[in-house]
Amino acid sequence: MSELRTRSRWRRRIPFSAALAAGTAVLLLVSPASAVVPQTAAPGADTPADLGRLADEQTSVIEVVVADTTELDALVATGVDLDHHVHHTADGIVVHAVVTGNEVATLTRAGFTFGKVLHTEEDAQDRIAEREATIAAHLADNREFSGAAVAARSAASDVKIIRADYYTSGDTQVLSVEAKWAQGQTAATALTVERDSGPGTEFGSGGTQNITRFVDAGVYLYHRGAAQVTSRPDYVRITSPTGDVAVAKVHEWLPIPDTDPEGPGYQKDFVTSYLTPTELYDRIKAMSAQYPEISEIVELPHKTNGYRRKAQAVLGTANASRVGVDSLAWGHQGGNDITVELANPGTASASLTVTVTGNQVRVGLATDAAGTVTSTAAEVAAALNAQAGTLVSAYTYRGNAGTGVVAPAAPTALSDGLSAPTTVSRDPHTVYAIRIGKHRDGSKMGVLAYAQEHAREWVPPLVTIETAERLLRNYAHDANTRELVDNLDIWIAPSINPDGGHYSFYDFNSQRKNMTNHCTPETSGDFLGRTSWGVDNNRNYTEYSLFDGYSGASTSCTSGTYAGPDELSEPESRNVDWLASRPNVKFSMNLHSSGNYFMWSPGSYATPGRVSAPRPTLAEESLFWGASSRILTAIKRHRNLAVTPARTGPIADVLYSAAGNSGDMLWYKYGIYAWNFEVGTSFQPTWTSAREETMEFSNGLVEMLRVARDLDTDESAPTSSVEVATSATEGSVDVTFSTSEPAAVFYTLDGSRPTFESTLYGSGGIREGGETLTVPVGTTVHWFSVDAAGNVERGYQPDGQDDNYNRKRLTDPNAAPEVPVTVTVQTRCVAGKAYVAVQARNDHDAAVDVVLESAYGQRSVSAVAPGASAFQQFTTRAASVPSGSATVRATGTVDGESVTTVVTADHAAVNCAADPRQAQ
Ligand SMILES: [Zn+2]
Repeated sequence: MSELRTRSRWRRRIPFSAALAAGTAVLLLVSPASAVVPQTAAPGADTPADLGRLADEQTSVIEVVVADTTELDALVATGVDLDHHVHHTADGIVVHAVVTGNEVATLTRAGFTFGKVLHTEEDAQDRIAEREATIAAHLADNREFSGAAVAARSAASDVKIIRADYYTSGDTQVLSVEAKWAQGQTAATALTVERDSGPGTEFGSGGTQNITRFVDAGVYLYHRGAAQVTSRPDYVRITSPTGDVAVAKVHEWLPIPDTDPEGPGYQKDFVTSYLTPTELYDRIKAMSAQYPEISEIVELPHKTNGYRRKAQAVLGTANASRVGVDSLAWGHQGGNDITVELANPGTASASLTVTVTGNQVRVGLATDAAGTVTSTAAEVAAALNAQAGTLVSAYTYRGNAGTGVVAPAAPTALSDGLSAPTTVSRDPHTVYAIRIGKHRDGSKMGVLAYAQEHAREWVPPLVTIETAERLLRNYAHDANTRELVDNLDIWIAPSINPDGGHYSFYDFNSQRKNMTNHCTPETSGDFLGRTSWGVDNNRNYTEYSLFDGYSGASTSCTSGTYAGPDELSEPESRNVDWLASRPNVKFSMNLHSSGNYFMWSPGSYATPGRVSAPRPTLAEESLFWGASSRILTAIKRHRNLAVTPARTGPIADVLYSAAGNSGDMLWYKYGIYAWNFEVGTSFQPTWTSAREETMEFSNGLVEMLRVARDLDTDESAPTSSVEVATSATEGSVDVTFSTSEPAAVFYTLDGSRPTFESTLYGSGGIREGGETLTVPVGTTVHWFSVDAAGNVERGYQPDGQDDNYNRKRLTDPNAAPEVPVTVTVQTRCVAGKAYVAVQARNDHDAAVDVVLESAYGQRSVSAVAPGASAFQQFTTRAASVPSGSATVRATGTVDGESVTTVVTADHAAVNCAADPRQAQ
């Protein structure tokens, strides 16, 4: 196998631096008093760290409408729990937040505008019921079955078209266009795109569409827009407001290929219901047991903290009078058996007492002379800690001074709030992966797929299961599958976050994070805060994280994007780090839902300024795009639904900043080509939809394996060329490189030999092709290209001595052909007499004939060799000469034709009599 031997050389050294408000939403979830608070001028400016979610509230997915990405950044900065949906509309950006009524109220007060309610807890309960019914039906089928078995572009224009993509989605035909206009930063004008109606037809015959500015944090990026069309255009034309014109050919986005990579008899469709993490692990264990020759189960090194909690209660209602109580033991280890009673003794002048009988804690409250209870929350908490401190720990509510008198309470059972059946382990959980491959010894290229960093995302794990099943069950009869399994080392981790996953199925459907409680009694660590705890596993990694100053993660333990107390503080994240550090892993897929996105690094930026983590090089980005095209075509093959161009690209471009996400760690720390899927349209769609999405994205995941395999077997070197155009800068030309496949180009302009240390040809800008270099005419460029598999053009050895790299002397293609000569004219004094010296150096690559001519004479020199000079010092026979000029005529063969170039150069006056050095 070939290694990716120049991978590290591709990488630059990275300095480690630092409306619409649907009444429905508001009326359902917000008290009228808080719904009418006026909006502030700058949304998010004064949002509290804790948005106020309480565990007994309903949680829903609701649209938030923000004006632009600056407001989106502000929303992200509040730490609100967002799903992965970011939709740019004419009126702003619509995102989906997972919020409770209290959180809606807090964010509304902070100036944010809510829209439609998309998903409620009832919907979630329907999914659970559907899953149970599905499983029950399958079980019934199985029983029946077994029972039966027993019985029997343009360079000079100020507008440039970046992409023009035609695609079909269902029965709809769409044209998506992105273009950059030179005045886009200052003028808000839309651009009009004229479509033809097919090859050879007139512009405009297919209609027109407007595309509008995409401005981010005050920075114009490009114009973009998609429109439905009724025919496939061949070319589009944009005429800018200044009258400049750009024309581009329309490319088909994700055309369905004629050749189906799934051969006859290919088996698929292996999932029949949503699966809990326990069920996911059981499934891969069963698979591996059936196919031990080509798979094994891997126990990842870090156990989770476990699906377990301390038993808790919050006694009382008014905050100043509330007492929180936690068991010292885990709920399932005795905590749930503890009761706490706040008893009115019924006598006057009683003192505060605490009595512990087994697991029963009885607080006798103090009374005054009239028999009225006088114990405050602070006093009760102190008494409990002093006298029942071996069983429980008590505290006032969320940092309140606790000066309110408590209300008597009947014996109240502490609870861990966990309702999964006992078949779900309460112990720290092992996270399992299945490793598939004929040779699992590190000798084959590794590919990693991992899902359910986010607990409530139930479809992505199924994609991994479906994919594993396809690989194992088609191995014996499908040559294409065998090719992959025999030659790749495939790591599949269906659930990175089993604790959160179980919690999502059995307790709190909208759970995003893990189950680790980093909150304290002061910061919502009480029983009412339990649906807000946990670390966002996709913000807990090491590169471009919150801790490095990047945006899109929170320091608040209750935030939906809580980054944790430190990088890799969580066992789940350390397991992903361990997987990524397998030395042979070169490709990865981080599976999330939802939104139908397909993304790569950079995944975060720092605000203000939107300074993103380093962008991939041009070559890397072209590999991302090239592979993406294949993977998305495979996804589309299932039911002809397309992932759109606007949802393909770097996370920071198409979504929002996500500091410390795992994809960035894999890319920046380990050099893995790390992709991120956002599967489907919601976290827990109906089973019918979930199954379709599983099939689609499993197609994509298998295609990623094929991409990896193809790269691994790539033995053919790229070829490259240089295109030279007239430059707006006088005396210069505009230069671009192109390559036959995704490849890096290294070049020099100083005549030196190109190496891996030479300048790397870069990208022209966000979502554009290669940069345009402006270089003086006459410069000779030396370059070579190298592909991702390390194949160097022409077998050139950049670290060796040979010189079989590419070279080209740059001339203006629109200028008349010239014989290149460098002319110098000087005046000199020799023995008191003035001389005019004329020199012409031949810069051509062939011999030239030269005529040197001055006012003082003429000389012809034939066949001056390349690099050699013709020279004549003309005597003037005078002590001084005025300023003047000399002329050189150079005649040579350029592109097969005889060309004469005339160069005139000036010389200064000289007076040799006046020069004391010459007078002696
Ligand atoms: Zn996610």
